[in-house]
Amino acid sequence: MKKFSITSKGDEKSNKLKEDIKSYLLEFNLVYDKEEPDLVISVGGDGTFLEAFHTYIHRLDKTAFIGIHTGHLGFYADWVPKEMEKLIIEIAKNPFQVVEYPLLEVKIFPEEGKQVDRFLALNECSVKTADGSVVLDLLIKGEHFERFRGDGLCISTPSGSTAYNKALGGAIIHPSLESIQIAEMASINNRVFRTIGSPLILPKHHKCELKPIHDDRSFLITIDHITKTYTNVKTIECSVANEKIRFARFRSFPFWKRVHDSFVADER
Ligand code: NAP
Repeated sequence: MKKFSITSKGDEKSNKLKEDIKSYLLEFNLVYDKEEPDLVISVGGDGTFLEAFHTYIHRLDKTAFIGIHTGHLGFYADWVPKEMEKLIIEIAKNPFQVVEYPLLEVKIFPEEGKQVDRFLALNECSVKTADGSVVLDLLIKGEHFERFRGDGLCISTPSGSTAYNKALGGAIIHPSLESIQIAEMASINNRVFRTIGSPLILPKHHKCELKPIHDDRSFLITIDHITKTYTNVKTIECSVANEKIRFARFRSFPFWKRVHDSFVADER
């Protein structure tokens, strides 16, 4: 017996679709369980999907996700409302295949003796400040790589590479590549200060560490859509997480086709 839950963007169209899907699936004797679902159906956009992911982040190994978009085509929300009948029958009658995508692990080490905060991101972690420029040392695999000065850094997952990372000039990475990408935000580059200036892609076994130079600065650290303010940050450590997100797959919709349909105008 499959247990499901549905999250909605909250607008009229998404709420109506949520109620319709719920009543159809209940008719097929599936169980609505908000606490321990096997399947989470997100209705809205990629932003709604990010919220669903963070709501069920504590049970990623037991929950599979599916996204339906009620606006424009999304990367996580890749089903359209007119496919609903087909999707409901698939969910009710067939066991689903699972496709896994990598996640980003972020550890924030505060001053000595204080608790380390650990987060998982589906899209990215961005590090900015409201106190002038971000100034930090970037270490890769324990070795000093550069001193960064600028607006900040964005460390993204492969599936997040089409989001903020893309706007920063980062590469689009296929989610089968277990990696993270570091993209700069407006780095200061002149005769005195120098950074690599290109996005860097790290494999699973390479960690990066961001070590702020000034202890007294506060940082705005965003994990997907959630921003927190930190002071006295010693190190922000980023790596590919051991956990993964699981998508329920009922039909093929290749990543590069989603990239094409979202970003490339088809003028043929
Ligand atoms: P938002 O500012 O309301 O929306 C950000 C936009 O990013 C929405 O159009 C959203 O799609 C889209 N998006 C989210 N994940 C994506 C993905 N993996 N690939 C392609 N597009 C994606 O913020 P939000 O809804 O809370 O989402 C937070 C995300 O916004 C962050 O994770 C970050 O990636 C993104 N962001 C982007 C920029 C930028 O591009 N300059 C700046 C800041 C943050 P939907 O409309 O389908 O929800």
